[in-house]
Amino acid sequence: MPELIITKNLDVPGIDSLAVYQQYGGYTALAKALREYQPDALVEMMKVSGLRGRGGAGFPTGLKWSFLAKNNMPRYLCCNSDESEPGTCKDRVLMERMPHRLLEGVIITSYACHVQTAFIYVRGELTRAAEQVEKAVDEAYAAGLLGSNILGSDFSLDVIVHRGAGAYICGEESALMESLEGRRGYPRLKPPFPAVVGLYGGPTVINNCETLATVPAIVAGGAEWYASFGTEKSKGTRIFCLSGQVKNPGNYELPLGVPMRTLIYDEAYGGGILGDRELKAVIPGGSSTFILGADKIDTPLDYESIAAAGSMLGSGGVIVISDETCIVGAIARMSEFYRDESCGKCTPCREGTFWMTEILERLEHGHGEMRDIDLLLDICDNVSGKSFCPLGDAATSCITSGIRLFREEFEYHVTHGHCLTGPGSKQQAH
Ligand code: NAD
Ligand code: SF4
Repeated sequence: MPELIITKNLDVPGIDSLAVYQQYGGYTALAKALREYQPDALVEMMKVSGLRGRGGAGFPTGLKWSFLAKNNMPRYLCCNSDESEPGTCKDRVLMERMPHRLLEGVIITSYACHVQTAFIYVRGELTRAAEQVEKAVDEAYAAGLLGSNILGSDFSLDVIVHRGAGAYICGEESALMESLEGRRGYPRLKPPFPAVVGLYGGPTVINNCETLATVPAIVAGGAEWYASFGTEKSKGTRIFCLSGQVKNPGNYELPLGVPMRTLIYDEAYGGGILGDRELKAVIPGGSSTFILGADKIDTPLDYESIAAAGSMLGSGGVIVISDETCIVGAIARMSEFYRDESCGKCTPCREGTFWMTEILERLEHGHGEMRDIDLLLDICDNVSGKSFCPLGDAATSCITSGIRLFREEFEYHVTHGHCLTGPGSKQQAH
């Protein structure tokens, strides 16, 4: 089994408590960071480690920290734990089972970035995760790991846990800041990026929960050690959330670059396709990423290889689709999600996601016309790249890739009024 970094000791009973976390070496990385490193050296360490953002975009973490504007405004850290991407369920588990690992990452990052107030923004529905993080924060204050002069150093930090209200758009970093400031979660225009003008106008570092939870291991083990995992450009390990028609769905931490086939078919992980059916397609990085056909099964799961195959590694949510699934129905469900979650600020996304869903649903139910397929592509073309934030682009990914790979299934729905394959073929038009 490959070495675990982020999920190491996750199954130890009681590891969510400060006492047990410390028994297993918890907060020694923080002590080491405060004792042995100046903040700039930690930024450099993250650059050398090759750690990239695990929320979806894969932006280099050390580089992001180094972009923080040098002015006299207060700096902030926001931990983005608004995990909402369909197919993604790793941050929730990290917060519920080992909240102190995240908190240790938040404290080290705040020290490295000269931050004195940090926020952990937890998705509204993740009540257990929020409670666990709140409990960890209380324990850390009581133990002198938060507050003034942490571990006797001259570094002080306050951490505030903020619960969202269940809007997917609040995971978009600028909408997250709007929400934290007490306004409706509408995205802001970028640039300026948060590193320059962020929360309350101050330079702000926003990192995903898994990204921050990885920081203590890098400080403890060293940048070179961490960089020895993964590929040349995609370093380290990450948590892949395997879901869909697979025998053993779940979260699996693996080095970047592991072949998709290993994750899906290896007995230690996915164990193969449910019911020993044929693989039809894979969505490799959450619903916002392009669908890949079964012929891409040997693609290594790293940022570059997945991009070369025509998609994105995204949030690590690998969704398996077997030949039992009606692709038109599956895409219609995803489209409904984006229609419901569109914040409505800009016209292409607000109107486009509505019309895309309407057309997909009429195709699914056998009321579509052949010209609807190209009409869908035309609407996608008017939404993608023309919307205010990435949600608009994301809403089109499954549709454009789905039609490109499985156009005959859309056409079959038009000519026969029901699905070409799987149990969906029993589904008559209604
Ligand atoms: P992005 O590429 O615009 O930005 C990535 C990060 O780098 C941001 O923090 C941004 O501020 C920073 N950045 C980029 N250029 C910069 C510059 N020149 N100077 C300073 N900072 C800079 O991507 P994004 O909009 O933050 O994220 C999109 C991704 O989010 C998608 O790929 C999708 O996979 C993912 N996503 C994840 C979830 C989830 O629940 N985890 C939900 C929806 C979407
Ligand atoms: Fe809102 Fe969609 Fe426009 Fe983003 S793209 S600002 S979610 S309407």
